[in-house]
Amino acid sequence: MSNVNEAGIPLRVLIVEDMEDDVILIAQELRRGGYNPTLNRVDTLEAFHTALTEQIWDVIIADYSMPHFSALDALKLLQESGLDVPFIVVSGTIGEEIAVKMMKAGAHDYVMKGSLARLVPAVRRELREAEVRRARRHAEEEIRQLKEFNESIVQNMSEGITIEDANGFFTFLNPAAAEMLGWEPDELVGQHWTVVVPTDQQPIVRAADERRMRGEADRYELELVRKDGTRISVLISGRPRFEAGRFVGTLAVFTDITERKRSEEALRESEEKYRRLFRTARDAIFLMVGDRFVDCNPATETMFACSRNDIIGHTPYEFSPPIQPDGRDSREKALEKINAALAGQYMTFEWVHRRLDGTPFDVEVSLNRLRLGGKWGVLAVVRDVSRRKRAERLLQALNRAALAMEQALTLDEIFAAAARELKELGIFCMVFPTDESRSRLFTRYLCYDPQLLRTVEKLAGYRHEDFSFAVEASDVYREIVQKRRTVFVRNVTGEQILPPVARKFAKQIVRMLAASRAIGAPLVVEDEAIGVLMVLADDLTEEDVPAVTAFAHQMAAAWRKAQLFEQAQQEIAERERVEETLRRRNRELTTLYEIDRDISATLELPVVLERIATHAKDLLGADESEVYLLQPDGQTLRAIVALGPYAEKIKATSLRLGEGIVGYVAQSGVAEVVERAESDPRSVQIPGTPKESHALICVPLISKGEIMGVMSLSRSNEHGSFDQQALDFLVGLSRQAAIAIENARLFAAEQQRSAELLRALEQLKELDRLKGEFIQNVSHELRTPLAIARGYAELLDSGALGELQPQQQESVAIIARRMRMLTKLMDDFNSILEIESQATKREQVDLADMVHNTLADFKIAMEQGGLTLVAQVAQGLPPVCGDPIHLRRVLDNLLGNARKFTPAGGCISLRLVQEGENLVLKVADTGIGIPEDQLGRIFERFYQVDGSMSRRYGGAGLGLALVKEIVEEHGGTVSVESEVGRGSTFTVTLPVSCEE
Ligand code: ADP
Repeated sequence: MSNVNEAGIPLRVLIVEDMEDDVILIAQELRRGGYNPTLNRVDTLEAFHTALTEQIWDVIIADYSMPHFSALDALKLLQESGLDVPFIVVSGTIGEEIAVKMMKAGAHDYVMKGSLARLVPAVRRELREAEVRRARRHAEEEIRQLKEFNESIVQNMSEGITIEDANGFFTFLNPAAAEMLGWEPDELVGQHWTVVVPTDQQPIVRAADERRMRGEADRYELELVRKDGTRISVLISGRPRFEAGRFVGTLAVFTDITERKRSEEALRESEEKYRRLFRTARDAIFLMVGDRFVDCNPATETMFACSRNDIIGHTPYEFSPPIQPDGRDSREKALEKINAALAGQYMTFEWVHRRLDGTPFDVEVSLNRLRLGGKWGVLAVVRDVSRRKRAERLLQALNRAALAMEQALTLDEIFAAAARELKELGIFCMVFPTDESRSRLFTRYLCYDPQLLRTVEKLAGYRHEDFSFAVEASDVYREIVQKRRTVFVRNVTGEQILPPVARKFAKQIVRMLAASRAIGAPLVVEDEAIGVLMVLADDLTEEDVPAVTAFAHQMAAAWRKAQLFEQAQQEIAERERVEETLRRRNRELTTLYEIDRDISATLELPVVLERIATHAKDLLGADESEVYLLQPDGQTLRAIVALGPYAEKIKATSLRLGEGIVGYVAQSGVAEVVERAESDPRSVQIPGTPKESHALICVPLISKGEIMGVMSLSRSNEHGSFDQQALDFLVGLSRQAAIAIENARLFAAEQQRSAELLRALEQLKELDRLKGEFIQNVSHELRTPLAIARGYAELLDSGALGELQPQQQESVAIIARRMRMLTKLMDDFNSILEIESQATKREQVDLADMVHNTLADFKIAMEQGGLTLVAQVAQGLPPVCGDPIHLRRVLDNLLGNARKFTPAGGCISLRLVQEGENLVLKVADTGIGIPEDQLGRIFERFYQVDGSMSRRYGGAGLGLALVKEIVEEHGGTVSVESEVGRGSTFTVTLPVSCEE
């Protein structure tokens, strides 16, 4: 294959041929004709079928006659396959007949093998024709598809489509149209349009029809009636149909706009509503772009007291005070809120606005963003809440005032508390108390700047505190006081609320007081108006009446409380006065008592009198105080005491009885108060003292009817005179002074006596001492010779110096016994002196042991005397603490006495036991006993009941004295019980504990 050939038009050729050579020929021929054929030869029906289905062919060239397969079969198969490929029959032997047959069968051409030159033009032509056929087929397909598509649109679109003929009968309705009208599509075909158009709408359709017949398309809204009778609104586009210039009917497309109409209607209604709201709202409504007002409603003008023009183009903060109550800058805060609203937040907040004239008022603002001509704007709704706020503040202020009033104790404080709180709110108040008869009012409490008040007073011509007026003079006050009703005065003219005298200037005064409205409320206590509370302010309303009434109740209660308190105060003051008198009386009594005590404590007359004079001076507030005493001559008076600046001069001067006022009182004995002593004719000038105006009080000192002197007090008249009370007090004092003088005299006498006694006592003591000394000396001197004499006497008595004659024997025995007695006497003397003069020994003494020893010693003597001795000593007794020699003496003396004073046949018993902290020793006998009147004396030294007895029994009356002194020295006691003729019992107690 040459390159030239290869550069030909590609041609895919399917050859149905059994002869390869023929194929080559055909290929050559085609190449010569300018093609670059790709040839595929098949010679069976199967291969042909496969080739058809697997590849695309531009042309099929088929041999007419083959052994197994004919061109006719191939053509049939091709036709069955539906492919439109040019089919050219090539044959060497084809006749006219066969050619016709093949052409009829559908072959596109036939070429004789002998004239292959015809092949290329035939191929070319057939290809072209096949192309045309394809194009047509394609167009047809497109048209078909388009038709289908249109149909499906018409069938499926939501708009309704109807077609009417020239007479107005429906020829077509799409499903949407039928559905909108509530019919089946077929039901309406053939019906006239008036079936679906209600009578009232038909003129619209007719008008449209006329336009359409003139060839105009149009669009209009219409109401249609559905099969069920309900109506729908539709928007119709109608288009006339013409065929060959003749009007043949209408194509109408319509959409259901019922919903839209409905919402449009609703919108329209609501818009209207909003417009009305905007116009009639009581809240101010603004539209703002940025921070500027672009529109506002009529309420705005009222609220801000200005015209629309004053507002539009301005900003909200121009209608605000510079600073909000929270301390924030108005502009800054407003911008912040507006920006937040613009960002889509719904803002509500409280705000203080200002009217054009500058008066501030409280509002609640809500800001909402909204679209204004494609831009975001802000809708501001401003509600005036100043009334509510003020009512709130009023209530709060009233509550605060009520609290303050609770604390207040006086009427002034109550008024001040109320006025202060009310003034904070720009409310002025006055309180007019009523008189007892509730017929007059006093203009006492007015809460106004004092300067303003003075001006008003000048104008009215009276001072408000001094003024009262009749309740009857004004209807307002009559209503308040008599009916006890709260009254609201809408337009204060002055005539209503000012006292008549001020009415001439009512206008001016009211202007000054700057209040156009007032509320007057009665202060009611126990059903009576005790006063009127009048509050004044420009912005009071009827709504404030209950609050003011309630407040007046609280004020009345506080008022009442304060009145009670004032009464109580007065009572307290009265009581205090009484108490002061009592205190003074008490002071005087105390003074008298102290003086009394001084008199008892100090018996020195000058000291006592000076104290009395001092007390009197201090207590009565005197400048000078003197006590004069009548001298022993009974004629001269001398100041024993003088207090004050001229004391020395006064002391140095003496007065005669009857001289001066003092001398006069000393003579008359009558107390006196002299108011102006310096001008009294009796007065004498004491040298060296000034002649001053002074009051004098002189009281005589009288004891047992005898004048002893005078007490006087003086005081400069600058300090006032002395009253009766002072005189009474001084008279009382003078009595005590007199007692003191008397006491002092007695005391002096007494002192003299006791000095004498003391001297006697001293002498006695000295005698006693000498006696002791003497006894000691004597006993000492006697002891040795006595011992020697006693020794010899006993020696003689024992017979050691030779047998004695019975008479001698007796005498010697007497001598010996007497010697023993003398020795004992000496011993007793010594013991007593020892106890008196020196400290006794202290050691543990087993008293039980000592008792046993003593009993043993006494045993024989008792038996000889025919006496029974009974002893009872408790076991395990504790020791006592003391001097064993002395304690032994106690036992000896008690047992000795018992033996001595008990006749033969008697019984002596001894008992030693412990009782608590003591050992108790009892020595009892059945002897002669001791007379009762002597019992107290037997423990005295040298005392004996009966001297003769003692001579009989021996003893010097020292034994029991010694017992007593020893026992007491040991911290114990001794006592005796006795009956004459029956015996005696001596009881000794000694403490067991030994503290050393
Ligand atoms: P005298 O050494 O005289 O006994 P006392 O002081 O011992 O002295 O006694 C004083 C007086 O108490 C005795 O003279 C006696 O009269 C009386 N007297 C003492 N003891 C007894 C007693 N047990 N019975 C009776 N009289 C007694």
